[in-house]
Amino acid sequence: MRLADFAPHAGANYAQKRNFDMGAGAHSHVSTLSPYLRMKVLDEGDVCRAVLDEVTAREADKFIAEVWWRTYWKGWMEQRPAVWTAYRDDLTRLHNEVQTQSGLRQRWEAACLGQTGIKPFDHWAQELVQTGYLHNHARMWFASIWIFTLKLPWQLGADFFLRHLLDGDAAVNTLSWRWVAGIQTQGKTYLADPSNIAKFTDGRFVGVQGLAAEAQPISAPSAPERQPISELPPYSGAPADRVGLVLHSDDIMAPFHDTLGITPVTTAYFDATAAQSPWQMSPMVAEFRTALLRDVSPDAVVLENDASLADWAAAHQLDHIIAPHAPVGAMRSVLRRWRKSGDTPITEVRREIDTAAWPLATAGFFKFRKHIPDLLSKFA
Ligand SMILES: Cc1cc2nc3c(=O)[nH]c(=O)nc-3n(C[C@H](O)[C@H](O)[C@H](O)COP(=O)(O)OP(=O)(O)OC[C@H]3O[C@@H](n4cnc5c(N)ncnc54)[C@H](O)[C@@H]3O)c2cc1C
Repeated sequence: MRLADFAPHAGANYAQKRNFDMGAGAHSHVSTLSPYLRMKVLDEGDVCRAVLDEVTAREADKFIAEVWWRTYWKGWMEQRPAVWTAYRDDLTRLHNEVQTQSGLRQRWEAACLGQTGIKPFDHWAQELVQTGYLHNHARMWFASIWIFTLKLPWQLGADFFLRHLLDGDAAVNTLSWRWVAGIQTQGKTYLADPSNIAKFTDGRFVGVQGLAAEAQPISAPSAPERQPISELPPYSGAPADRVGLVLHSDDIMAPFHDTLGITPVTTAYFDATAAQSPWQMSPMVAEFRTALLRDVSPDAVVLENDASLADWAAAHQLDHIIAPHAPVGAMRSVLRRWRKSGDTPITEVRREIDTAAWPLATAGFFKFRKHIPDLLSKFA
């Protein structure tokens, strides 16, 4: 519904107005589809197909490029999983520092509560907590002020986003924060500028004072060597096997059992997002996902922990479990653990679109972008 409403506006209107952040409840220049893409209720092919039914590829060029930015970040991270591991290690250390250093704790709390005295920043912190969404430009300004004006560690800001965004994504969020900090594109930072904020908030925040005047890149180790994306072993169950499907917080749809020729006898769902932060997730994220699950798979059994997976498999006498592939992030570790400790074999299945697109994220986005027409002809 949201996609159908937005599709006719994905051409010139989007290209001209997408950078304007009009505030909560008024984000009509952008699609706000990211939580659905994040949970894979929609994939990039679905979105581009709907848009290309309404406007030409030329008109939708900017929108289509943004949609594939997401894919690019996913593919980039998939080939450098150590970046996520390093972020998680940093976060564990910073969690400890926040507990033990009262100065850091107070500055971090003020930023998360929107009590810094920087009016637009405080507004965005509260908008994020109250709605689970921020406009892309607000995310850029917010991250820049967090890092360069408030001088807080970028990892704590990325964690704040990941706990509250309905579209919070291990790859897209981490790499976007790294990009603002000048780590992702070496030496290139993003500086929030008062006149740019005034213009693109349509005059809601004019004459913001006290922002950093420069943004020196944050020092960090260079990106690890790229490694090939792992091949997944094919499904090896027998035709008569009783198969269960586990949907999860990185793919709530898993539309592949038709192509595998399998009809699962039961479906379950597991949400791993609580494991991605040492702090509590926003309840809004869980509420959004529960509602989504009720829409897409109303009969799915919600698994609470590792033991409930074993109980579910035993109750349905499962010979085999299939699960959508878990990209870099919290769910990947859960599936690894289950595979090691469980009695029922688990086969992960990656979507064709990801198998085709992710390996193309070898270097910068502009190299990746050359493949978009080909990806569109295959998947849109
Ligand atoms: C610091 C920071 C953190 C971010 N964290 C996340 C995150 O956790 N999850 C997430 O999905 N996006 C993240 N983004 C990217 C972007 O802000 C959101 O995808 C976008 O704002 C979602 O709103 P929309 O659906 O209305 O986007 P639209 O403008 O309508 O774009 C359509 C789709 O394209 C993709 N897209 C758009 N802009 C970007 C972008 N800059 N990078 C990657 N994909 C993009 C999204 O899937 C989006 O739904 C982050 C950006 C920044 C600067």
